[in-house]
Amino acid sequence: MTQCLFCSIVSKQIPATILYEDDSVVAFRDIGPQAPVHFLVIPKRHLTTLNDLVVGDEHLIGHMVLTAQQLAAKEGISESGFRLAMNCNREGGQTVYHIHLHVLGGRGMSWPPG
Ligand code: 5GP
Ligand code: ZN
Repeated sequence: MTQCLFCSIVSKQIPATILYEDDSVVAFRDIGPQAPVHFLVIPKRHLTTLNDLVVGDEHLIGHMVLTAQQLAAKEGISESGFRLAMNCNREGGQTVYHIHLHVLGGRGMSWPPG
């Protein structure tokens, strides 16, 4: 997947402000932040959309959520609150086709999103 933007961030071919990295995930700040705190948690393994998840990916997704929770604490938004979002395909608002968990905080969030 040499053409995939987020795979290029994983392989460090494209720079990003990386907050955390381990064997299976990378977290980095969103280049176009929609809130005072906005970072993404992605799997290192390329998965195009949420529709590509299969039985066996539970640990990976849980690890992404726990990574988000721990980094939210480091960013100081645990108590004020934050939002996790994953967009799937066109009507879900997905623009980068390598799954990613948005973590947004530092301001009030409206619901439902636009
Ligand atoms: P989506 O719309 O697919 O749910 O979210 C994609 C996110 O990736 C957007 O919030 C966008 O700002 C972010 N993004 C797009 N290109 C880059 C990039 O090159 N670097 C970083 N750090 N974020 C990016
Ligand atoms: Zn990818």
